[in-house]
Amino acid sequence: MSKEEKKSILGFTKEELQKLISPTFRIKQIFNWLYHKRVKSFLDMKNLPKNLREELENKYNIKELEIISKQKSSDGSIKYLFKLKDNHTVEAVLLKMKDAVYNEDGSIKHLPKYTVCVSSQVGCKVGCAFCLTAKGGFVRDLKANEIVEQVLQIYEDNNIDCNRKVNIVYMGMGEPLDNLENVAKAIKIFSDMDGMSISVHRQTISTSGLSSKIDKLAKMDLGINLAISLHAVDDELRQKLMPINKAYNIASIIEAVRRFPVNLRKKVMFEYLMIKDVNDDIKSAKKLVKLLNGIKAKVNLIYFNPYPGSEFERPEEKRVKEFQQYLLNKGVLCTIRESKGLDISAACGQLREQNLGEKV
Ligand code: SAH
Ligand code: SF4
Repeated sequence: MSKEEKKSILGFTKEELQKLISPTFRIKQIFNWLYHKRVKSFLDMKNLPKNLREELENKYNIKELEIISKQKSSDGSIKYLFKLKDNHTVEAVLLKMKDAVYNEDGSIKHLPKYTVCVSSQVGCKVGCAFCLTAKGGFVRDLKANEIVEQVLQIYEDNNIDCNRKVNIVYMGMGEPLDNLENVAKAIKIFSDMDGMSISVHRQTISTSGLSSKIDKLAKMDLGINLAISLHAVDDELRQKLMPINKAYNIASIIEAVRRFPVNLRKKVMFEYLMIKDVNDDIKSAKKLVKLLNGIKAKVNLIYFNPYPGSEFERPEEKRVKEFQQYLLNKGVLCTIRESKGLDISAACGQLREQNLGEKV
């Protein structure tokens, strides 16, 4: 079998491998080598019989992605640009949510808290007016292994132990619900107790609001958290910002969210991108409160992150704070997303754009 035809083993769930490899206990061992010890070759899987190691080496590969660019932000977040086997590129970001805390003697009290933001597609079909990923159009869906490997390589690059509690957000490039099959597979692989054990409660899908796919996700009953990129409270404006709103309007999204099974202790997150003089007024905040009435929701306000040539502007801090305070006063949980990695232009698609730009 030529190298090109080999499939990546990282795209297989344990259940799928059970149909291909026997006896079953070998699969647990393989998962341990792949995700705990992070070996680069099947030949290093020392407790497997030699013939199985060779069979695996002939049929599958482990590493397909290559880190071709890395930018570190002053807050400790790191943005990665990965090259795929077909030379397309996608971004992923390691977000440092909390710094490490040290004891007086210099020993570590708490390790830093991380979230990994992964891409689900090369480009995106949804075409939001404010989003840089949309500008390059849609190229293709990522395969499950290409999603899994973004996280695995980031773990490896930062020496993160597989037992650490890390969050995953599907908020990189692409619309995850437009590639639901592969994303669902990645969710299962991440949460496997013999692999990285990243609980489904630590994984969040962010969607532009494909209502029918939200229902489909609900039926799959994966237990994952849901985030809705709302960004506007009336259909007219939302349609301008997000053309997908013509197919799935605000009412249809809210209905789908009401049907979504939310973990008892969790809430659905509504992301609201604040754009200067477009949607950052108190009238919008008022409408937002009405819209979310009766939903277990929390709102996350995001500063629009400008990029060269973007037609929108970052709002003033005062407006964002006032917007937040209005929601809080009305009893709606509301946070402001810290501009993690702002100095490395963390809005998705920007590192890729820079890199493509350099090549021209
Ligand atoms: N397609 C999915 C997930 C990827 S986008 C979605 O739209 O939800 C992840 C988040 O980044 C979305 O909330 C999106 O609105 C936001 N985003 C896109 N461009 C941005 C920009 N220039 N500044 C800040 N956030 C941006
Ligand atoms: Fe796609 Fe999300 Fe960007 Fe919209 S914001 S174009 S859905 S990646």
